[in-house]
Amino acid sequence: MMQPTGLALQRQAAGEAVAHLADEAATLALGQRLGRALRPGLKVYLQGDLGAGKTTLVRGALRALGYRGPVKSPTFTLVEVYCVSSLYLYHFDFYRFENPQEWRDAGFREEFGGPGVCLVEWPEKAAGLLPVPDLTITLEHAGQGRRARLTSTSEQGRQCLDQIAQ
Ligand code: ADP
Ligand code: MG
Repeated sequence: MMQPTGLALQRQAAGEAVAHLADEAATLALGQRLGRALRPGLKVYLQGDLGAGKTTLVRGALRALGYRGPVKSPTFTLVEVYCVSSLYLYHFDFYRFENPQEWRDAGFREEFGGPGVCLVEWPEKAAGLLPVPDLTITLEHAGQGRRARLTSTSEQGRQCLDQIAQ
């Protein structure tokens, strides 16, 4: 497989890395690295404006796990569930929440405490109620491309980050 040239990943301080993502292929490539580093129960929160590349990152992760179907944005459904490569993977998008209480009402607490992997777009919409993540990936526009900052906040998150940055 050709190595994408657009992905430049740099280790920062312990528990941090930054990546410049020159194009969509680079975001997919980072997503693929994330996909290979996912373990049961891992919670990864994806921050960034509309169009920052959060769903693209999830698409890359699912591709790396062997999923070949469409990866739809869960903006209206709140969650899309995948069972791939012996992992349950929940792709959440809380964009439409008007207040964090809606997260509790939606009844997702169980998913966040179980063996399924949680990849969450717009976690800030459920701020104060969501459990702390293992890994946070913040995406922002940078010229024509994007910049990603990865921050781990648990031992499992750090292991995941180590594998991504290898
Ligand atoms: P989000 O889920 O954050 O709203 P999407 O993943 O839907 O964003 O991506 C929005 C658009 O940005 C898509 O057209 C996608 O192809 C494009 N995109 C993703 N990553 C990059 C990148 N690194 N450089 C340029 N465009 C990108
Ligand atoms: Mg999205």
